[in-house]
Amino acid sequence: MTFAEGKIPFLPERLAGLADVALNLSWRWNRSARAMLKAIDPALWSLTRHNPVEMLRSVDPARLVECASDPRFLALYDEAVASLDSAREAQDTWYQQTFPDIGSGRIAYFCAEFGMHNSIPIYSGGLGVLAGDHCKSASDLGVPLVGVGLLYTKGYFDQKISLEGWQEDSDEPFDPSIMPLTRLSTPEGSPVIATIHGWGREIQVGAWRLRAGRVDLILLDTDLPGNDDQDRELTRKLYGGGQEYRLRQEWILGIGGVRVLRSLGVEVSAFHANEGHAAFMLVERVAELIREGWNHDDAVAEVRSRSVFTTHTPVPAGHDVFSGRQIEDVVDGRWQDFGMDEEAFRALGRHPDLEPDRFHMTALAIRLCRWVNGVSRIHGELTRTSWTALWPDREPSTLPIGHITNGVHLPTWMSRRVMTMLDELCGAGWERRIDDPEFWNCVAELDDDALWGVHMKLKYELLSFVREQSRQRWRTHQWDASHLVGSGTLLNPHTLTIGFARRFATYKRANLLFRDIARLERLLTNEQYPVQLVFAGKAHPADDQAKGILQQIFHSTRDPKFEGRVAFIEDYDLHVAHRLVQGVDLWLNLPRAPLEASGTSGMKAAMNGVPQLSTFDGWWAEGYTGANGWTLPLAKGEDAEVDAADHEAVFNVLEREVVPRYYRRDDEDLPREWIATMKAAIRESGRFFTTRRMVQDYARDYYLPALRGDKAGDDPPQR
Ligand SMILES: *Cc1c(COP(=O)(O)O)cnc(C)c1O
Repeated sequence: MTFAEGKIPFLPERLAGLADVALNLSWRWNRSARAMLKAIDPALWSLTRHNPVEMLRSVDPARLVECASDPRFLALYDEAVASLDSAREAQDTWYQQTFPDIGSGRIAYFCAEFGMHNSIPIYSGGLGVLAGDHCKSASDLGVPLVGVGLLYTKGYFDQKISLEGWQEDSDEPFDPSIMPLTRLSTPEGSPVIATIHGWGREIQVGAWRLRAGRVDLILLDTDLPGNDDQDRELTRKLYGGGQEYRLRQEWILGIGGVRVLRSLGVEVSAFHANEGHAAFMLVERVAELIREGWNHDDAVAEVRSRSVFTTHTPVPAGHDVFSGRQIEDVVDGRWQDFGMDEEAFRALGRHPDLEPDRFHMTALAIRLCRWVNGVSRIHGELTRTSWTALWPDREPSTLPIGHITNGVHLPTWMSRRVMTMLDELCGAGWERRIDDPEFWNCVAELDDDALWGVHMKLKYELLSFVREQSRQRWRTHQWDASHLVGSGTLLNPHTLTIGFARRFATYKRANLLFRDIARLERLLTNEQYPVQLVFAGKAHPADDQAKGILQQIFHSTRDPKFEGRVAFIEDYDLHVAHRLVQGVDLWLNLPRAPLEASGTSGMKAAMNGVPQLSTFDGWWAEGYTGANGWTLPLAKGEDAEVDAADHEAVFNVLEREVVPRYYRRDDEDLPREWIATMKAAIRESGRFFTTRRMVQDYARDYYLPALRGDKAGDDPPQR
C-alpha cells in the first residue's frame, strides 16, 4: 500500500493526482489548487479549516465521482496538477538562472519550529511562521533547501479562556493521519533513522517528511516504542517543559538532525541555524570531521566556512544559556564522542562575561558560523553591539555580523481578492515580474472604488468568520452567553477596525491602550466616528504576567462601557491570522523599542492594503515611508517613561490622524486619502518585505559562499 492510498481512501481514476496535490503543501500558495480543493466541498473545506487531507478522508465518494466528470472542475484540477509538477520540477528557476554553476549540494535549514500550515501545529509564533515562509520561498526560487525540525506530536497548546478570563492550555488530539506527513523508514523498514546518546541512555530518533513544493522538511521525533517513556515525551510538546526538557529537545534537533540527514543520504553542503536552538548541529559536524581525522582547529574552520546563523533575539534574556551541570547531563561524560576533551567542548559555548561553565547557544553559533545576521537593520546594529565580548578591542560597527530584513511569503499572505485585482490591472503572470521594484508602482493605478470594495468584502468575511467561530464555540465549549459579546459578534463592518494579534509577550504591550480607560472609552464609543479593537494571541504557558494582560483585555471585551467594541478571538493560529491581516482596517504594533527584532504581522497586513501604526522598531524603521501608515516617535528613558510617552503618542495619532482620515468620505462615499495609504502599504510591502527578496539575499550573500566553503578573509571571534 502506498502512503497516499493509506491517507486518502478513495479517488476516482481521473482524479488520482489529487493525492499528490493534497499531500504537498504547495496547494496553499497555488490559486488554482486552492480553488479546486474548495470546489470539492465548500462546507467541509471550511469545517476542516482548509485541511485537504482531512476533507478528502470524509468527503462523500459520490461527490468525487461527480467532480471527475465536471469539465469546470477538471480544468481547475488539470491546472493544479500541472502547477505542482512545475513547482517541483522547473529547471528555469531564479536560483538556476542566477547561479548556474553551483552544483548539487543542499542547504540544511534547522529550526525548532515551523509554521507551514494551521493543520500542522508545530509552531508558536513569528519565528516558526518565518521559517515556514522561508521554505516556501526557497521552493519558489529553486533554492535547494531541506528543512530540519522537530515533530511535536502533541503540537502547541490550544487556547481556551476560562470565565474569569484566565488562559487555560489544553491539548487537542494531534492526528498525523490527517496531516500531509510521511513517516520515514530505513531500507529494512525500521522507523529508527538514527541513534544518539545523552543523559545516560541511547535515544532512537525517527523522522517524518513534509513536502512544500520542491522543499522537503524532515521532522524528527523520539516517540518510538524502543525509547524510554521519558524520552518518548521529549518531542511531544513545543515549549512544553522547563529548561532541561528544552535542552534535551535541542540536543535531539542538533545532534539527531545531522545524523538523520546522513542516514537518509541527503547531500548537504551548507547549514543554516535559524536561531540558537539549533546550534548543537554545529558541534556534531565538528565532531564528524574530527572522527574523519581532521584536527580541531581545521574542523572548526571548515564548519564555520559552511555555516550560517540567524539570530532573532534582541535582549540577553532571550538567549538559551545552560548551566555546567545541564550540559554535563546531556553529554553524559562522553566528550570524546565529539573528538574533544571537556574543556574544548565547553569553550565552544563560553560567554566571556558569564561564569566559565555556562553554555551559551548564541555564543556557540557565532563561534561556529562564519555568516551571522540579525533580522532588520536596527537588530543587526544591536546584535553587533551585544557581541563585542567575542571581539574585545573592536568597535561594534566592525564586527562581522550583518542583517537581512525579514519578509513574508506573498502568495501565502496576500488575499486571492487582491491578487485578482492585480491580474486585472497588470495581466496574468504579474507574479513573474515582482522582483522588479518598479513593478510595484502599478499599485497606484488600482481603481479606488474597486480596491475599497475588495477591502470591504474581506472585512465582511472576517466578521462572518468571527460570528461562525463564536456560534460553534458557544455550543461546543458551553460558553456563557456574555462570552458571545466578547468574542466579536457585535463588531460592525462600517466601523474603523483595529487589529492587534501576536503572542502575548509583555514587551509587545497589548494593554498599552488600556492605561487611560476614560480616553479609550471616548475613542471607541464616539457616536459619529466609533472605533473597534480586535485582539488575538496566546500567552506562553509559563508566563503568568502575559496571562494577566490577556485577562485584562478579556474583561474589557465584556465591559458594557465599551459597547461590544473590544473583541478577543481565541486560539490565534495561522488560520485566524490570515483572516485578521486581510480583514481589519488598521494593524497596530506597539513593541517597546528596540525589543522587536523585526516583527512580520504588519507586513502581512500591508500586503492586503491594511496600513500599520507602529512604534519605530524592527522592520518598521525601514518600512515606514511617511505614506504607508503611521509611526510613533522613538521614546527614550525607563520603561515606565517610555510606556507613558508611547501611550500619549498612540492616542494622539489615532485621534488626530487615523480616525479623521478613515471617516473622511467624498461624494461617492469613498475615503480617498485612506485608500491612498492602503495602496502605499501594498506597494512598499510587495517591493521589499517578502521572503522572496529575503531568501534571494540569503542565497546571494550567505548560501553561495557557504556552499563553496569559502574560507578566505574569515574573521572569527577572538575569544
Ligand atoms: C505572523 C505571525 C506571528 C508573528 O507576528 P509578529 O507581529 O511578528 O509578532 C505570530 N503568530 C502567527 C500565527 C503569525 O501568523
